Amino acid sequence: MRPPALLAIAVLALASAARLLAWDYEGHRAVNLTALASLPTNFPAFVKAPAARERIAFLAGEPDRWRNVPQDLPLKHAGSGDHFIDFEDFAPLGLTPDTVSDLRYIFTSQIFLARAAHPERFPSIDPEKNKDRTRELIGYLPWTIAESYARLKSAFSYLKAYEEAGGTPDEIANAHANIIYLMGVMGHYVGDGAQPLHTTKYYNGWFGENPHGFTIDRKFHSWIDGGFLGKSGGLNLTQLEQQVKPALRLSTVVGPTARDPIFDHAMNYLVAQFAFVEPLYALEKAGKLKSENPESKEGKTFLETQIVSAGHMLGSLWLTAWQEAPPDTYLRAQLLTRQSKSAK
Ligand SMILES: [Zn+2]
Repeated sequence: MRPPALLAIAVLALASAARLLAWDYEGHRAVNLTALASLPTNFPAFVKAPAARERIAFLAGEPDRWRNVPQDLPLKHAGSGDHFIDFEDFAPLGLTPDTVSDLRYIFTSQIFLARAAHPERFPSIDPEKNKDRTRELIGYLPWTIAESYARLKSAFSYLKAYEEAGGTPDEIANAHANIIYLMGVMGHYVGDGAQPLHTTKYYNGWFGENPHGFTIDRKFHSWIDGGFLGKSGGLNLTQLEQQVKPALRLSTVVGPTARDPIFDHAMNYLVAQFAFVEPLYALEKAGKLKSENPESKEGKTFLETQIVSAGHMLGSLWLTAWQEAPPDTYLRAQLLTRQSKSAK
């Protein structure tokens, strides 16, 4: 067994070396479960069977479990940016949330082109602290949400083809399993977005100029993720499920940005959460995030509202993916050919 002091040092070292986790597992589960509660009664019923519901809740934590192996640099490099977006960091790149490309690799190339053209705008990076080569990046959360949506829509497309054109029970069961998996994992990222500290470079205490005197505590992020809620009686799931607004079908009409409409929805959702960064710090400053203070009720309500709004956004994305998914025509043609051969 490791001596407790060494364990504590190891935990601290991990915490300071990497961006911390988002909502604790309990918060992420609550987002996915409130999203399920937001769905209309005509949504495919297999997702609400008790085992599926529990699996969707369990998968809310999956992308964070992928981060608990910090020595695996390829995964760290590819995955850690999926959990956040630092809105302040668009400006030095000469980019804006309204005009940035909705295509992940084009956006990435824009970052490196801007850094090469204007090195004076960017603080130097210590290679020792950048083994996974992510310090140049500013986060991919809107891209991750849009890509997750498209994977889910694809899965509904092939489910529809199997249902309409003679899929076997095993094929339909596999499609169901994939949809449950994709819904659950996607929920993690939408949930991350509603933790305002996932939209800012001040993700773990303020730094630099600090005109409002906000906290510089490097435990602030983990306190918001779950420490405060844990000390304030935890989450009342039934209450959150009652609060969540019914899921809405999101518009898929291409807007003035000419980008993928779901990418625009994801970006707008995250911009709205970014507006809560300073109010969140202000709550801390006013003592409303100290569980022992009676006024902490306001802090708790703020975080519960964030979880419920994530549930609504997630439910809306799931609903839209299901409704917008056309039957997979390639697969349907294959299935029809298979049917006609077996009929001979
Ligand atoms: Zn996360």
